[in-house]
Amino acid sequence: MIASVMMSDLSWDEYQRRIADEDAIVLLPVGAVEQHGYHLPLGTDWMMATYMARRAAENVGGVVAAPITYGYRSQIRTGGGPHRGGTTNLDGLTLINLVKDVLKELVRHGARKLAVIDGHFENRFYLDEACFLAVRELEYAGITDAKILKMIYAEDIKPETLETIYAGKTYPGLDLEHGGILETAMMLYCHPDHVDMSKIPDEDLPKFPPYDLFPVDPDWVPASGGLSSGKGSTVEMGRLLVEEFVDLVSTSLSKEFR
Ligand code: ZN
Ligand code: MN
Repeated sequence: MIASVMMSDLSWDEYQRRIADEDAIVLLPVGAVEQHGYHLPLGTDWMMATYMARRAAENVGGVVAAPITYGYRSQIRTGGGPHRGGTTNLDGLTLINLVKDVLKELVRHGARKLAVIDGHFENRFYLDEACFLAVRELEYAGITDAKILKMIYAEDIKPETLETIYAGKTYPGLDLEHGGILETAMMLYCHPDHVDMSKIPDEDLPKFPPYDLFPVDPDWVPASGGLSSGKGSTVEMGRLLVEEFVDLVSTSLSKEFR
């Protein structure tokens, strides 16, 4: 068998050995299946969350649990909305229960250091709730030594990195960075075969009203589904961002668990 930090690559006894004997941190990537414009794949969020979890696990001697590929509902003002083909969402309660169940299962087999690595903006509060409920239910069952770290891998970006990448332009914010320069550059670096730079259209940025509508109005979002343009993204920008985020996740894990 190959040397791997991925749970799915390990035999049961090797996995068991790592969490029981080595007390390895178990990282759970959570993403989404969601449109990302014409130039990025539907799997962008879970692919990037899994990439970050793998790199961080390699740094800290962790194990990456099989990823949760589906995520909470794409919101029109942060993810382009639920209406475009392929954006396949979970209800909030489903995501909470799914993540909670997996966390408790990981703990049942001995994991005590857990990390939820989020790659999809809209998951945020549902993952908080899943972690909270998992810890509470474990405490009721007498397990009080399990700890869960939860973070969006891009939680923090150094101002100088943004300055380099958005030289002369305005950073739209993480909520509008959907199919934009950050995600496009990171995918160019991590999954170059999954990016088609020739398909980024010339579109005006959306101007959202300060409220939401249910059902959503698809016309709020540009035809491509992107909320900011990925034009001008390069592999080098991707390297800068990805290595910074790998470091951010790795040092966060080391700080809390070592
Ligand atoms: Zn995304
Ligand atoms: Mn997303």
